[in-house]
Amino acid sequence: MIQRETSARMRKSAINPTAGPVRTCIGCRKRELAVELLRVVAADSGNGPGNGPSTVTVDSARRLPGRGAWLHPDPVCLQAAVRRRAFGRALRITGSPDITALSERFPTGDAHGTPGQENR
Ligand SMILES: [Zn+2]
Repeated sequence: MIQRETSARMRKSAINPTAGPVRTCIGCRKRELAVELLRVVAADSGNGPGNGPSTVTVDSARRLPGRGAWLHPDPVCLQAAVRRRAFGRALRITGSPDITALSERFPTGDAHGTPGQENR
């Protein structure tokens, strides 16, 4: 493979393509470096497909098999994904996904007075 660096400069983007693979957040639909996103997968609840809610978990190691989705580690994106049922579409889940495990990995909205985080 020959790397063609010049042609990549045509597009105006904040993302540096040489920094790694780029994925789309299912919450805000913005393209982002994969390293900046959480990979989420649907864990089999043991009842087989279509039976009962599927549990959605964070794939911290990014190694779990199967269909994955990508999400900013931001509760806003989580809520947006839930609202537009992006999990069902991205992970091929029928019914409503159980995102309890996901919520634990996201900073919750009741963090009043938490230093850092928000800067705008
Ligand atoms: Zn997002």
